[in-house]
Amino acid sequence: MTLHPNSIEARDVAYHMHSYTNARAHQETGPLVIDRGEGAYVFDNTGKKYLEAMAGLWSTAVGFSEQRLVDAATAQMQKLPYYHNFASRSHGPAVDLAEKLIQLAPVPMSKVFFTNSGSEANDTVLKLLWYRSNAMGQPQRKKIISRLRGYHGVTIASASMTGLPNNHRSFDLPIANVLHTTCPHHYRDAHEGESEEDFATRLAAELEEMILAEGPDTIMAMIGEPVMGAGGVVVPPATYWDKVQAVLKKYDILLVADEVICGFGRTGKLFGSMTFAMKPDIMVMSKQLTSTYFPLSALMMNERVFEPIADESNKIGVLGHGVTGAAHPVGAAIALENIKIIEERGLVANAAEVGAYMQEQLRTLSDHPLVGEVRGIGLIAAVELVLDKESKTAFEKPGQLGAKTAARLLENGVISRAMLDALAFCPPMIVTRSDIDGMVSTLRRTLDEVAAEVL
Ligand code: PLP
Repeated sequence: MTLHPNSIEARDVAYHMHSYTNARAHQETGPLVIDRGEGAYVFDNTGKKYLEAMAGLWSTAVGFSEQRLVDAATAQMQKLPYYHNFASRSHGPAVDLAEKLIQLAPVPMSKVFFTNSGSEANDTVLKLLWYRSNAMGQPQRKKIISRLRGYHGVTIASASMTGLPNNHRSFDLPIANVLHTTCPHHYRDAHEGESEEDFATRLAAELEEMILAEGPDTIMAMIGEPVMGAGGVVVPPATYWDKVQAVLKKYDILLVADEVICGFGRTGKLFGSMTFAMKPDIMVMSKQLTSTYFPLSALMMNERVFEPIADESNKIGVLGHGVTGAAHPVGAAIALENIKIIEERGLVANAAEVGAYMQEQLRTLSDHPLVGEVRGIGLIAAVELVLDKESKTAFEKPGQLGAKTAARLLENGVISRAMLDALAFCPPMIVTRSDIDGMVSTLRRTLDEVAAEVL
């Protein structure tokens, strides 16, 4: 493909190295340049309209043109565009937001710590838990358990907790003290004929075996997304979190809920922890916290977590952790307004109601020859593509069918995301039934087009 000299596409290739992109292929294809947004839709620089069925990166609750967030940002920019929270400094938006998050928490929480990305928040979790173990005189208790196909980010600790090969390969990761247990994906990981409940029982038993093999007093915590997102939208099998939590409780191991995708309504309740009756000791939030109009993340911890950390910082003289932009007043002001909009417009109820409709409509594709599984809950779903339903296989190269279909779907005006051969759907929480109708009919047409080529 030849890019016009001096076009935005050519300048992008010349100067911009992209996240999560094949850097060499990008030199050939160039970028897709998104120019503006309107509700659940975005427009590229040729004026073509797309349904943003991924809400960006699972992240925009209120859509792409919410004036109230622009106004909240402008007002805060004018009043105090920046301040920090080192050395006991504070400001109104940080305090208001921390208080609001503690009030919203589904289980008693004590303190909020702010960071700028989900990855940073999860790195902070690991560091604070190490700090806590040392504070408690348990220097041997340094391990965390996460799950294969779990996604927790890309910084050194968070990428280590992520259980996906491309986040480790050639990066010399994972680091020590991070263990990965089985992914709870019934379609792929259950044994022949195993019920969801039996699968969950087996996974809890495997978790317990891992804990016993490692030594229960070496394990600090387990981290998990209530519903796995980037690993393929994996809704846990019935009874999974109950059984896992019983094991953790038995060995006095903390639970960290990574609510970066599930938080603020995505699963049809305010937090994924509510949907699955999880009782986390730490909750990690980002993305829909500000609708990602601003980079902001936060972790909430209970007294059990906070108290030893406070003691250790007192012993040392300071908690030697925190970033320049933490608790940013503009981000906090946007988050407060965003949460207010979610509450006032009933967007969590909309995610439950339109979400149930989306799940039902996507499931009408189950008998399409290319569809192996449709899964999801609330406004998050995946359609897993196969060439052979019996063996659940696609092309020899994993991801080839997913990439091809996602590219065709993009041409047809719907932005999804291929996670290997599963297409993800996670539209803004303002979507309507009619947006979903358009999305599903475009997907059906796209699947027919791809089937005509590959079957
Ligand atoms: N945790 C989960 C569950 C995520 O989905 C993501 C990002 O997709 C992260 C953490 C990392 O967040 P960020 O990309 O902001 O670093």
